[in-house]
Amino acid sequence: MAKILCVLYDDPADGFPPSPARDDIPTIDRYPDGQSAPTPEAVDFHPGELLGSVSGELGLRRFLEQQGHELVVTSDKEGDHSVFQRELPDADVVISQPFWPAYLTAELISRAPRLKLAITAGIGSDHVDLEAAVDNGITVAEATYSNSISVAEHAVMQILALVRDYLPAHRIVTDDRGWNIADAARRSYDLEGMSVGVMAAGRIGIAVLRRLAPFDVALHYTDKNRLPTEVEEELNLVFHEDVHSLAPAVDVLSIHAPLHPETKGLFDDELIGSMKRGSYLVNTARAAICDRDAVVRALESGRLAGYAGDVWHPQPPPTDHPWRDMPHHGMTPHVSGTTLSAQARYAAATREILENWLSGTPIRDEYLIVDQGRLAGSGSRSYTT
Ligand code: NDP
Repeated sequence: MAKILCVLYDDPADGFPPSPARDDIPTIDRYPDGQSAPTPEAVDFHPGELLGSVSGELGLRRFLEQQGHELVVTSDKEGDHSVFQRELPDADVVISQPFWPAYLTAELISRAPRLKLAITAGIGSDHVDLEAAVDNGITVAEATYSNSISVAEHAVMQILALVRDYLPAHRIVTDDRGWNIADAARRSYDLEGMSVGVMAAGRIGIAVLRRLAPFDVALHYTDKNRLPTEVEEELNLVFHEDVHSLAPAVDVLSIHAPLHPETKGLFDDELIGSMKRGSYLVNTARAAICDRDAVVRALESGRLAGYAGDVWHPQPPPTDHPWRDMPHHGMTPHVSGTTLSAQARYAAATREILENWLSGTPIRDEYLIVDQGRLAGSGSRSYTT
């Protein structure tokens, strides 16, 4: 029988909600590239429930316990004495979410001799040391596409929020209880007519481009591989060979590349300094793609008119993390990919992966990051060890 160790974020501060805000969510059968949404044999939850927090348990308990497996769910993940680290040595499976990542470092993997499977309930497995997973024969799988559109919507929302200066205007109503129109208008612009670029036009990046096209903006992008000509023509895209050409050409730049050695620290003083004065930068990919202090400096100098995103380093960030207090930011916690809509999909994908693994049937190639001692499936396209 297997021991499944599941690290999830805490329940809401005022307790697990007795019912969701809406009765149902739309059913998505297929993702934009034709990949089918998760197909587990069954799920033990109602789509739209809070599943990603500790009491939600990704809807897994009944399924696992009925088969005699042990499920341990905790949010306590940091330090030697955390429940995560105490339960890890005899765990067969670890499940974690990028929003509240259980960092599976090489050192922790060496203390987990039984570990065979690490599932990311969501997308982005950089909290797992993939090289150590390769070396130790651990399969790493994630819920590919489950929250790509969720993230794209968040990026578009944050682009609009920054350009329109929405959050300060909202605070005038709620916090100041005032009505100074000039305060609300002094940094507010239309997106219409601006140039908007995405760095990386993968699943999320292309979805952002498609959603922005109706705003009558000039769309730019860079990616390691150029999109098909018909897509470039359909969306009237300007392709840039690299980010150094893209950055100075646009008013708004949204980052959608994975974190890897090529992208780590890429947005430093020099690259941000090459952007137009008053540009907007949105990063829903990974925080470390941007130099933390360069972002602060650029907001203070006015090089950037706004910065937003939902990714931080580390997660959660300390209370004195400078991005909490820097000017003109629209940051959220790491939440874009964990809408209730996304949770239903990645909980179902997690169940599907577990059903496969427990019954010895193959896990879908598109879910695989590492398998049989090498990068596999989506992992071989998105990661390098
Ligand atoms: P995809 O794998 O579909 O797309 C990533 C794209 O980035 C690929 O086209 C890839 O090109 C390209 N790329 C890689 N390196 C570079 C580079 N140096 N310069 C330009 N392009 C590059 O990923 P997704 O769109 O699904 O996700 C993107 C990232 O978003 C994830 O890696 C993850 O970190 C983050 N994410 C964040 C979430 C959140 O909740 N905030 C949730 C989900 C994902 P190629 O294929 O040729 O290598």
